[in-house]
Amino acid sequence: MEQIKLILKDIPNLHKIEVYEANGGYSALRKALGMKPDEVTEEVKKSGLRGRGGAAFPTGMKWSFMPKDSRPKYLIVNADEGEPGTFKDRAIIEKNPHQLIEGALIAAYAIGAQTIYVYIRGEYVKWMRILQTAIDEAYERGYIGENILGSGFNVDIYIHRGAGAYICGEESALMESIEGKRGYPRVKPPFPAQYGLWGYPTTINNVETLANVPVIIEKGGEWYSKIGAPKHPGTILFGVSGHVNKPGIYELPTGVLLTDLIYKYAGGVRDNKKIKAVIPGGSSTPALRGDQIEGVTMDFDGLRNAGSMIGTGGVVVMDEDTDMVKVLWRIAKFYWHESCGQCTPCREGTGWMFKILDRIVKGEGRPEDLDLLVSVANNIEGNTICALGDAAAWPIKFGVQRFREDFERYIKFKSTVLVEK
Ligand code: NAD
Repeated sequence: MEQIKLILKDIPNLHKIEVYEANGGYSALRKALGMKPDEVTEEVKKSGLRGRGGAAFPTGMKWSFMPKDSRPKYLIVNADEGEPGTFKDRAIIEKNPHQLIEGALIAAYAIGAQTIYVYIRGEYVKWMRILQTAIDEAYERGYIGENILGSGFNVDIYIHRGAGAYICGEESALMESIEGKRGYPRVKPPFPAQYGLWGYPTTINNVETLANVPVIIEKGGEWYSKIGAPKHPGTILFGVSGHVNKPGIYELPTGVLLTDLIYKYAGGVRDNKKIKAVIPGGSSTPALRGDQIEGVTMDFDGLRNAGSMIGTGGVVVMDEDTDMVKVLWRIAKFYWHESCGQCTPCREGTGWMFKILDRIVKGEGRPEDLDLLVSVANNIEGNTICALGDAAAWPIKFGVQRFREDFERYIKFKSTVLVEK
């Protein structure tokens, strides 16, 4: 499959506004401002673009949920990239921040928002500064502010820094956080388009999602829809980490084979070892066994059919020596720590899952613990306000099923040394 670079282009110093402009930057904004807002949304619908934050919800459809009344409206750029194994949004901010800004401006115009908040992960200090510099440059050139490019459209962009809570990347907790409250997810519905920031209509889009928008407006939705997997078109910035020779971010059309991503692009597995497991889309997506990855395509349906999810496209490759019980122990610890505590099944269940895994890792596991783990996971799944509960339950539930022999060996030999070479 041919590599296409719509976002991470090979242009030096693209983060500078003059370089971005010299390469056609902000012409899509100009074009969009000459269209009716609904026509912009229609073009994005036609493109088939789906959200790149993890859930793959159709972007144009999300925009079309925004009411057309005269209330204040908001666009929030979700840059709270917190999913373990995920590091692509910061690459966009670093290499091509103006494409994100341009995409956000076009989105704000389409949905009628007068204010854009970029909610950025607190640890991303360097990237926050890069983005603020780019925003300042865009203000100076008249792309942000009042009467943008003489169109009569006004919008301001503010950066809001998170303070280290994973849950604040969940869209409704994020809005609570901007409002100055504790980051507790809200019950949905109402969805943000009906009741968003300060109760006003709001759209929340991920960084990578918005960075695709200028390309769609410039080249047309139809053109974009032909790239990659027909039901999930475009490119994805796959962040490959773990035991590969060339970890990094690879922008490739959706539908690329997982094995091509690992062997052709990421240089294969270190020391030519076999693959024990692959997390395909960040820690919320269940790991596939090494013998399950053949023929799997990296798109919504491809991953779902394989028994996982596309998620954020953060691929974690683990070789044959990996202790999967410890991997799942670590993941469980993360979700237990990050559970906001609002819903009982998640608050208690994540703690129980961690406690059980902890005793297994310490050599104190009991044979009945494996069914108990699955039972606790089943009682979290579907019983919480937000997706964190499911995200915590699935990796453990599928992990116990897919790597059961590893768990059984741990329990039987009461050993932390799992792999028999
Ligand atoms: P979701 O499916 O509930 O929602 C996705 C988006 O679609 C939201 O904006 C939501 O408002 C909208 N939506 C869904 N149904 C709707 C409806 N009926 N009407 C109107 N709008 C609707 O998923 P989510 O909780 O937003 O995201 C879950 C995913 O987030 C996980 O699968 C995981 O991959 C990912 N995630 C990403 C990160 C990261 O750092 N990028 C971190 C944690 C989790």
